[in-house]
Amino acid sequence: MSRTHIPKSLREKVAAEAGQRCGYCLTPQLFTATPMHMEHIVPVSAGGPSSKDNLWLACPLCNGHKGTQTDGTDPATRDRVPLFNPRRQSWSEHFRWSEDGTQVIGLTPVGRVTVVVVQLNNEHLVRARRRWVAAGWHPPKE
Ligand SMILES: [Zn+2]
Repeated sequence: MSRTHIPKSLREKVAAEAGQRCGYCLTPQLFTATPMHMEHIVPVSAGGPSSKDNLWLACPLCNGHKGTQTDGTDPATRDRVPLFNPRRQSWSEHFRWSEDGTQVIGLTPVGRVTVVVVQLNNEHLVRARRRWVAAGWHPPKE
């Protein structure tokens, strides 16, 4: 068994807690054709355990962009600040949707850094969000 093995029962519990959507961009599992990842909030490479408190659901795009990063430089203040923690922090305190619903706006240093590092407005997500808005599926109500 590898160090990152996560039992199915734990995966299901974390996915349910995450509301079956990415903790960063809020894309629901139902909108994607590829399975969401079990994201280690503190990366395995930094000693993060594969335990419930360190796991959340993330889409492959967000998980790939986050990689092993845990902080970044706030574009407004140039301070180093930690990334958003989807398990411990409230999305709506740190982010909001743009008026047209296609862009994530960082409201706090944590939010601003996470928009940049996790690339929450990458072209693939923005293109998909335009369709979801047109279909009345997006942005999410909370
Ligand atoms: Zn995502």
